[in-house]
Amino acid sequence: MIKIEIPTPLRAYTENNKRIEVDAATINSALSKLIELYPKLRPHLYDGDMIRSFVNVYLNDEDVRYLELGLDSETTNGDMISIIPSIAGGVLEGPELSKHEIERYSRHLIMPEVGMSGQRKLKQARVLLVGTGGLGSPIAMYLAAAGVGTMGLVDFDVVDYSNLQRQIIHNSNNVGISKLQSAKSTLEGINPEINVVLHETVLDSSNALDIIKEYDIICDGTDNYQTRYLVNDACVLLNKPNVYGSIYRFEGQVSVFYADKGPCYRCLYSEPPPPGLVPSCAEGGVIGVLPGMIGTIQANEIIKLIIGQGEPLIGRLLLLDALDMRFRELKLRKNPDCLICSDHPEVTALIDYNEFCGVLPDGSGLQFNETISVKQLDELRNTGIDHLLIDVREPHEQEISMIEGSVLMPQNQIAELIGDTPKNKLIILQCKSGVRSARALYTLKKLGFVNLKNLQGGINAWADKVDPSIASY
Ligand code: ZN
Repeated sequence: MIKIEIPTPLRAYTENNKRIEVDAATINSALSKLIELYPKLRPHLYDGDMIRSFVNVYLNDEDVRYLELGLDSETTNGDMISIIPSIAGGVLEGPELSKHEIERYSRHLIMPEVGMSGQRKLKQARVLLVGTGGLGSPIAMYLAAAGVGTMGLVDFDVVDYSNLQRQIIHNSNNVGISKLQSAKSTLEGINPEINVVLHETVLDSSNALDIIKEYDIICDGTDNYQTRYLVNDACVLLNKPNVYGSIYRFEGQVSVFYADKGPCYRCLYSEPPPPGLVPSCAEGGVIGVLPGMIGTIQANEIIKLIIGQGEPLIGRLLLLDALDMRFRELKLRKNPDCLICSDHPEVTALIDYNEFCGVLPDGSGLQFNETISVKQLDELRNTGIDHLLIDVREPHEQEISMIEGSVLMPQNQIAELIGDTPKNKLIILQCKSGVRSARALYTLKKLGFVNLKNLQGGINAWADKVDPSIASY
């Protein structure tokens, strides 16, 4: 008997039989008997009397085209004929799956959209996640569970108690340790078959291309403009898809930027907003499940790109309002004058993204002479120099902590509350961590105030470095 191995995409025509046994003396007669048994297979194998050009036939491990007699070659009992079509994922790409992996991924393997071919592509795939915070957590966990073979993680932060409300990859036992180590231990617990590569660094123009070029798909899970433009530009220059997500309070956005096939992030916004105008989650807050909802959509897009199925979110921006629970979809177009992905780009290499976004390397969004450290403020208070310390947080936050002598003027009311304070008075602005106060500084600057300083790190830094009796939150 001759065994004929049927590839996954053709099993639909063999009643799902993987291996057919026939009695035949040549390859040709074996295939004829196969067609007699399963006539629906014929158009997929033959064009007239010829084997289709995109179908290869192997006798044992030999391609029959290289056998002297080709399809007329004789077969002997126990021989194996394999049919390998080059279409529809016929040739299985990527590494084979072990018995354990077949068990682990069985719910994928039985789906026609994934199957063995898709699962092997997942195993072969290399995905880079920039940030292991709110969005990075669910993305990394689902991709690990799905069997993405190599996952690179970029972060430099340590796990903080305030992360745990949404960053589900981290847990209470890991507070104070590096986010990457924490993420790696969670991911290896979910799936020890995958390879997790750690890049413990701030992604910047000096290292982004070297890191990103090692991966097939990049996923932006950060919350600052410098990194967002950096990731976009690096992906355009290296021609990689960039799966984008962003979140704020109850609202989220997702898209796939892939300059090869659609618009990039700069096609939408050629430049970032002025520093301090758009609040981050650290300042504005975010509902804890939102990164879960947006992150899992990103993870789904990544899997679709890897297995080559479905309609990717290229050229579409998906908006979620989780408070009203409404999705909307906007069409995105490639900007023919895009600074980086058009036919005549002005940006042809990475630039200094801190400068481009008008921020200090610490992300505060201010010029160097507009900031003051908590140590400097402490000295200034001790020397008795005349100044006004304005706390721009909300009243309920002042109940948690306050710096003695500060005057409360919530950031969104500061323009009215500042009243007729002299424009040249030394004003120090303070909030929780330094972002809202940077925005308040921007507001006062527009009103003509000239002697403004933003307290770096806000009251939390003050509590940490100057007055440990104050609570951090
Ligand atoms: Zn573009």
